[in-house]
Order: sequence, then C-alpha cells, then structure tokens
Amino acid sequence: MTETEGKILVSACLAGIPCNYKGESKPNAQVIQLVSEGKAIPVCPECLGGLPTPRTAAEQKGEKVFTKDGKDVTTEFNTGARSVLETAKENGCKLAILKARSPSCGKGKIYNGTFSGTFVNGNGVTAKLLIGNGVEVKTEEEL
Ligand code: SF4
Repeated sequence: MTETEGKILVSACLAGIPCNYKGESKPNAQVIQLVSEGKAIPVCPECLGGLPTPRTAAEQKGEKVFTKDGKDVTTEFNTGARSVLETAKENGCKLAILKARSPSCGKGKIYNGTFSGTFVNGNGVTAKLLIGNGVEVKTEEEL
C-alpha cells in the first residue's frame, strides 16, 4: 500500500492547471478542494503524451485523433492515456473525475471530429482506457 493508495485521479485543468489546448484551466471548486486535501492526483494526458501547451485543438474521428489542421495525433493521445493508466495502477486509483467532452478526458459525449461543436456518443481516449481497466470515470458535471 503506497501513501497515495485509493486517491482519485483528476483532470489537471479541473484542478486549476492551465494545461488545456488554449493554455487555460477549467477550475472546478470540488476538484481543487480534493487536491488541496491531498485526496486527488492531477494528470493531463495530452501533456503526458508530449503535446505542447497551447496546442491545436484535436478531436477523435473513429479510432484516431486529428488536430483541426489535419495532423494525426493518435500516438500522442494513446501515449498520454497509457501514462495516466500507469499512474492509476501505481496509486490504486478506483475513481477518476475527468473533464467533460474532451477528446482525452470526456465520458459519454465527445466532439464528433468535424470541429463544428457537434457531439457524438463516446469516450475520450484516456477515459476509455481507464474504464476498460476497471477505473470508474465521472465528469465534473456528475459531481
Ligand atoms: Fe484537461 Fe484532459 Fe484536456 Fe489535459 S487532456 S487539458 S486534463 S481535458
């Protein structure tokens, strides 16, 4: 049992870290509280996958992820997702609170790959990998 056993994984942007594609955060008071109490670990899969901040917006299209200007960033998204799963395993995380609608972190609904603000049913790359490995995922909107 590590010191962090049972902690909650949270999207870093929800914890107030300016890591989204625009270089902004999406602070959520409950997530910030969990981190300040030492109960949650902030992670940003897109940063962990080696993408810069700020970065060009990306959306999933089928099994792949493309930036708005057409670059295939599937590898970076998958690398980031695996890194987050590793962190979850190392720390015995059973729950993750992730940013709604993100192509990495979103759960249930994500943008549909046309950069038109249209949603499709599905999970972000990281959310999908976590769920597939037994980690419960909630969005900040479900808190
Ligand atoms: Fe936030 Fe997740 Fe996007 Fe990183 S990848 S900025 S944690 S929504």
